[in-house]
Amino acid sequence: MFTIPRSKRCHLFDSTDLLHLDFPCAFDAVETYVEDSHFSHRLVRCTDCSQLYLKEFYETIDWADGDDPQRVTLMPVVNAEAGKRLHDAFPNGLGAVVPRLVFDSPKGGPRTAGWVGMESRIDVTARETVRQLNAES
Ligand SMILES: [Zn+2]
Repeated sequence: MFTIPRSKRCHLFDSTDLLHLDFPCAFDAVETYVEDSHFSHRLVRCTDCSQLYLKEFYETIDWADGDDPQRVTLMPVVNAEAGKRLHDAFPNGLGAVVPRLVFDSPKGGPRTAGWVGMESRIDVTARETVRQLNAES
């Protein structure tokens, strides 16, 4: 099972006010794995507790209105190597990997923010994938 050492437990794991998270203040960029204007993978560090995350930015281009849907996904990782492995395994998007923190800005719709897969009823295969990716070599 995917677990994070208690000493490394980030306040974001239990936050009930994720919608108002101030991204520039909440994270320091550690490393950029891939970046273009509509997709990026970065290793970031929580400025509060130093928890590392693989951060994915994804923007869907629909060529209308300029109000393109955007999604930011954050995956907690135990170290930089685990972040790189996760990026290498899912270079085109973290998709169903759990647990993940998702900030969704759908076109014209309300923004949402929340954890996927923190509860027990999550996809076992995805959870096992994350466990292996986070394993210390
Ligand atoms: Zn934190």
